[in-house]
Amino acid sequence: MPQFNVATLLHDPVGASRRALLEDEPLAVPLAGYSTLASGPVELIRTGRGVLVRARLRVRPTLECARCLTPTSIELPLAFAEEYVPLRDPVTGVPVQADPDEFRIDAQHQLDLSEVVWQYEQAALPLRPLCREDCAGLCPVCGQNLNARRCEHEAEPAEPWQGLAELAERLRSEESDGGPEA
Ligand SMILES: [Zn+2]
Ligand SMILES: [Zn+2]
Repeated sequence: MPQFNVATLLHDPVGASRRALLEDEPLAVPLAGYSTLASGPVELIRTGRGVLVRARLRVRPTLECARCLTPTSIELPLAFAEEYVPLRDPVTGVPVQADPDEFRIDAQHQLDLSEVVWQYEQAALPLRPLCREDCAGLCPVCGQNLNARRCEHEAEPAEPWQGLAELAERLRSEESDGGPEA
């Protein structure tokens, strides 16, 4: 998990910083069957209230292909800056107030990036992830994955176009009815 102990950084003056590099760090994601890996540089900067995290990451979530449902790893760039607030002031021990949607450094001074990376990743996910651009999908009749093997239903005419073809035919004949050569 992309986690940092910031106990000493919290005792440093404002502006002090640390750098770290994530390398295929798995995130703790609250979804069954979903996994994601994060890589890239992270900078932790002491602020007046806590620690500012600046990150430029490359995440590789595993998603289901929208056409053939095969688990598929895609790659997305993410960049963010978010401030984390400690539960208690590191010097005085006084509890620090924060909004419910602010990120917190826990009682053991651990700053965990899983939640923030997950949120930014969710916002960046494609609506229809594909295993490849020209994924052939599943046969609507028998469910065969058409990337792996053809099936006998493939040659059947696609119903939705039938109506359009008839309409085009009618328009063509109406046109020629009214035309000079009719
Ligand atoms: Zn696919
Ligand atoms: Zn089929």
